Amino acid sequence: MIFQDPMTSLNPTMKLGKQISEVLKIHRNMNSKEAKEEAIRLFKAVHITNPEQRINQYPFELSGGMRQRVIIAMAIACNPKIIIADEPTTALDVTIQAQIMELIHELKEEMETSIILITHDLGVVREFADRINVMYAGKIIEGGTVEEVFKKSKHPYTWALLKSMPTLDSDIKSELYSLGGTPPDLLEPPIGCPFCARCEYAMEICKEKMPERTDLSTTHFTCCWLTHEYAESVE
Ligand code: SF4
Repeated sequence: MIFQDPMTSLNPTMKLGKQISEVLKIHRNMNSKEAKEEAIRLFKAVHITNPEQRINQYPFELSGGMRQRVIIAMAIACNPKIIIADEPTTALDVTIQAQIMELIHELKEEMETSIILITHDLGVVREFADRINVMYAGKIIEGGTVEEVFKKSKHPYTWALLKSMPTLDSDIKSELYSLGGTPPDLLEPPIGCPFCARCEYAMEICKEKMPERTDLSTTHFTCCWLTHEYAESVE
């Protein structure tokens, strides 16, 4: 797991080498010497300079980007099949964001691991994802390949997300699109479509029944009554 905020994800009272060695001793049964050597190797793998010195430092001595590299080194320490990265670059500045995303991508290829990337940043999604699941109010409402979601989206919430993204040819004088209303209260979730109160295409059925999943291709699906009706009409 790679957490969102590298400033609070590490133990501030422990040296970095000790934090990573703990993982290696518990999960890979290494002794202290082996764990130290492996910690240095992992620091090198995530491009931390002077790893032999870094393992003796505390988190406060490192920048945000460097700390996120340490977190990534810990995340890959047990050769995971899946890494969950929860907004891994939100707390970092833009140039460091790009470096961290490049690193995660590089490790994914090298280790043949899968990444579940949770993010609000559609630019990052477009560049790094293979498959996308769009979530609203705790539910997946559309899924597909990058091409399908960005170019052939069929769900009004995905349309709103894409419309709110600035592009290079956007008119700089016009205001950015923003979706009105607020998400539903999940303590009292609506019976029908959770997006109903904010959807300009809402129909009667949307208030009464949760939309069923409609498969539009082997990889593309949506949960929206609009698409359901469309799919039925072309059957
Ligand atoms: S099911 Fe209805 S309310 Fe929900 S997104 Fe589709 S059209 Fe809008």
